[in-house]
Amino acid sequence: FPVLPDNAPIGRTGENVFSQYAGCKKFIQLPLSQKTKDGLRKANYTKMTDIQMATLPHSLCGRDVLGAAKTGSGKTLAFIIPIIEKLYRARWGPEDGVGCIIMSPTRELAVQLFEVLQAVGKHHTFSAGLLIGGRKDVDTEKEHVNNLNILVCTPGRLLQHMDETPNFDCSQLQVLVLDEADRILDVGFKKALNAIISQLPKHRQTFLFSATQTKSIQDLARLSLKDPEYISVHEES
Ligand code: ADP
Ligand code: MG
Repeated sequence: FPVLPDNAPIGRTGENVFSQYAGCKKFIQLPLSQKTKDGLRKANYTKMTDIQMATLPHSLCGRDVLGAAKTGSGKTLAFIIPIIEKLYRARWGPEDGVGCIIMSPTRELAVQLFEVLQAVGKHHTFSAGLLIGGRKDVDTEKEHVNNLNILVCTPGRLLQHMDETPNFDCSQLQVLVLDEADRILDVGFKKALNAIISQLPKHRQTFLFSATQTKSIQDLARLSLKDPEYISVHEES
């Protein structure tokens, strides 16, 4: 297992470390765990898309990333891979609780990204759960939620657990992801998001991915982003 990312310094001092991977075109060229490489290969992911190529060297070094690229450009793997690697390197186990929260604005998108997480994380031993409301009984969910390492959720359902689930604990959170961040940062989710953020530890890695770049200083402050990398990938015309 390559030692490099484990020791990679966080922040601008890591420039020389991540730049070693800048320009890599295939997943196997990145310093990923064998389990992740196997998961990617089995799911037929070989070459990185532009947004994956541009963000992974940064996110794998522990940086906060704001990634923007159009729909269909492969943003899901751009955050799923660094999440898995971070928990794996930290030797995250069942007793460590919630290590990562991925928020999605809709149930449908949450289901889709949960499937990608399951495929790529197939050989890893973390537990992941989909907390999206709807048909599933919230009381059954409450019994299991404290044993999950990765939560894929909609803001409403996550907040419901924070409010109602006994001993719900995310004090050890390592990574927070907002997928379709522009939609989650929109007014409709403002109250829920603020309530959620206020209960999360500030010392963590944060990823925001969406089709358009989030530039609101207020939003970035609200999310306690630390010197984030702004990465936009546009179609060549
Ligand atoms: P976005 O979130 O940017 O809209 P997705 O992450 O949903 O895009 O990916 C769009 C499609 O591209 C999915 O079908 C996904 O399986 C596929 N895809 C993503 N990354 C790769 C890759 N590196 N190689 C091949 N297909 C990919
Ligand atoms: Mg997406």
